[in-house]
Amino acid sequence: MSEAQTRFETLAVHGGEPRPAHHGSVVHPVYQGTVFETRPGETYDEIQYIRLNSNPSQDYLHDKLALLEGAEAAIATASGMAAITTALLATLQAGDHVIAAGAFYGGTHHFLTGQAPRLGWEVDFVDPADPEAWAAALRPETKAFVVETISNPLVRVGDLRAIAAFSREHGLTSIIDNTFATPVVFRPHSVGFDLVCHSATKALNGHSDIVAGVVTGSAERLARVRSVLNLYGASLDPHAGFLLARGLKTLALRVRQQNANALGVARFLEGHQGIAQVNYPGLASHPEHARAAELFDGFGSVLSFRPVGGVAAADALIKGLELPYTAPSLGGVESLVTRPAVTSHAGMSPAERAAEGIDEDLVRFSCGIEATEDLVADFAQALAPLEA
Ligand SMILES: *Cc1c(COP(=O)(O)O)cnc(C)c1O
Repeated sequence: MSEAQTRFETLAVHGGEPRPAHHGSVVHPVYQGTVFETRPGETYDEIQYIRLNSNPSQDYLHDKLALLEGAEAAIATASGMAAITTALLATLQAGDHVIAAGAFYGGTHHFLTGQAPRLGWEVDFVDPADPEAWAAALRPETKAFVVETISNPLVRVGDLRAIAAFSREHGLTSIIDNTFATPVVFRPHSVGFDLVCHSATKALNGHSDIVAGVVTGSAERLARVRSVLNLYGASLDPHAGFLLARGLKTLALRVRQQNANALGVARFLEGHQGIAQVNYPGLASHPEHARAAELFDGFGSVLSFRPVGGVAAADALIKGLELPYTAPSLGGVESLVTRPAVTSHAGMSPAERAAEGIDEDLVRFSCGIEATEDLVADFAQALAPLEA
């Protein structure tokens, strides 16, 4: 493809597609075979075997994913957790120290607090917006800096450029979970992050029907990630990979609509007297709005808010909404609503939630690709009885 044809929308459709296509097929076939004939002189690394992530459908998906994140190389994994844990396992040895910035996805938080000690890693949690805290946490054994692009559920945006620069300056591997942003909104390699992870279960696939993950980075780093993944065995099955590649083709369209929906809903809620607080990086009232506007193209699909009237009002509002499903997760074509204190963040104690600023009455809304007007109208009707 020429330079002129590499805008994101075009890459999403044509990137990584072999041309001429196999047998002229417009859609890359699913090679479900577990093993392929060896050729004379082939080394172990060249064997095509399904767990070694070298089946032709896997190769195809990796090419596409690398192009979309603007990376030299990519690997698909069996889940988002497999992506994050493999990136860490490929980076750290026993005795190493990790700086972890922010409030993490529950699974990642549990891994860093519960599993890391068994592996001999020490972890310090710091504020992603406070460079002095990073410097204070730094030790001779520090090897990695881990962060999420947009935090959950308060949708805070850390000083991502500074985190990448700090990591480079101190020889740390910078690892970012870009699930909430997607490469449509933010491409972390462009500001210097070393490894980018995704739960492809969310927006990359976008249809709430597979579990998958992704790690991208330089060819050298990805070779290490891949060898660890191959040994731990969390490879993605080609059938799920086929669905992921199909989802990726519409990623830009879906995410732009989700961004527009989230901004429309956030603005409506901010102007509504039944709502006490709205968190969305696209609002001027968000503490990191300027940073998000500089780094991002759009502000993501997720917002959170607190209704006037506490937990009872939050539950009544969730019950009154007709379009969204009441469920955790995010990034799919259908809107989802949840109260993090009883779902995604129920694993934390009330004191831990309070320390992170996750109030009991906080509601998280993940926008799908419905019409903005319909989502806003749904909120209007669900809020009306609460005001009576
Ligand atoms: C869902 C999610 C994960 C975990 O992904 P799975 O595919 O469920 O393993 C990790 N990070 C973030 C930000 C997520 O939203």
